[in-house]
Amino acid sequence: MEELTNKTILEIENLHVHFVSKVETVKAINGLDLVVHKGKTLGLVGETGAGKTTTALAVLNMVAKPQGKVIAGKITLDGEDILSKTEDQMESIRGNTVSMIFQDPMTSLNPVMTVGDQIAEVLQIHKKLSKADAAREAKKMLETVGIPGTRSGEYPHQFSGGMKQRVLIALGLACTPKLLIADEPTTALDVTIQAQVLELMKDLKNQMDMSMLMITHDLGIVAEVCDDVAVMYAGTIIESGTLEDIFDRKRHPYTEGLFNSLPDVSRRGQSLKPIGGQMPNPADLPQGCAFHPRCEYATEKCSREEPPMHRFSETHCAKCWLYEHTDECMLVSKDYDPSQGVQE
Ligand code: SF4
Repeated sequence: MEELTNKTILEIENLHVHFVSKVETVKAINGLDLVVHKGKTLGLVGETGAGKTTTALAVLNMVAKPQGKVIAGKITLDGEDILSKTEDQMESIRGNTVSMIFQDPMTSLNPVMTVGDQIAEVLQIHKKLSKADAAREAKKMLETVGIPGTRSGEYPHQFSGGMKQRVLIALGLACTPKLLIADEPTTALDVTIQAQVLELMKDLKNQMDMSMLMITHDLGIVAEVCDDVAVMYAGTIIESGTLEDIFDRKRHPYTEGLFNSLPDVSRRGQSLKPIGGQMPNPADLPQGCAFHPRCEYATEKCSREEPPMHRFSETHCAKCWLYEHTDECMLVSKDYDPSQGVQE
């Protein structure tokens, strides 16, 4: 465990987060395990409502109280037990050790403050810089993300969408955090600008020797920037592995469904196959495997008992009953022909 901790920046173990109201209990996170390795980018993938953003907020110890409650679990960030920290201690951890880039620059930037002042404020709070030093650093940060420092006196509305996203990246990176969490950072951007922003994030991550948790529903972005991938469904990880494990050797029917719903030149002429049905209501999760109402491989057992995590290799595992009696890797596919052996 000690050896693992030396290599990881973030470890989440058996996390459960509920939102409790008078009428219902929303089970947003249900036994989530996740590891981000030092210097690597982990893609956290899944449809809207899977619990991706709640996971990120839990890492920042910012699950909305009083309704939101961490019911169980442990979050270790850079060796620190996050859930035992006071709000004052978290203030220093946020920004210095971890920071987050949100998806919508319009709601994340203060419209009545210049972008330079917003970055400088972060530096004054977290790095305790003087006003003059913080202003100088803010200009440098803007230049790092490709915005001339001379524009630091301008307001958010004076920037284009792509430029505003760059300002958010500058804000997120201002204190050179060890872990950057990016929540759908390019969703609001057109494809060309999206590619530029992703390239910029990749470069800066390498320059600053950071780790990154990239939250996205877009497998194209995962292929572009991630080293490892965790696929999330109904508040838990249902498959995880390296980029190659997930793209070339996917095992879970949900992961397979995500890929089948994407256009693929190798399947030119075939129609796309979106996953039928919807993510279950977290206030009323199905018994057994939460994916069973949508799964074409579901058996009676799947509707009764939650599947265990099956490990295929040191890096690759999937939570599915299909592998109950399997010692080796097998493709999850109805087209799988055992006489052909394992297809890798
Ligand atoms: Fe489908 Fe059953 Fe596997 Fe769940 S456990 S993904 S329902 S086959």
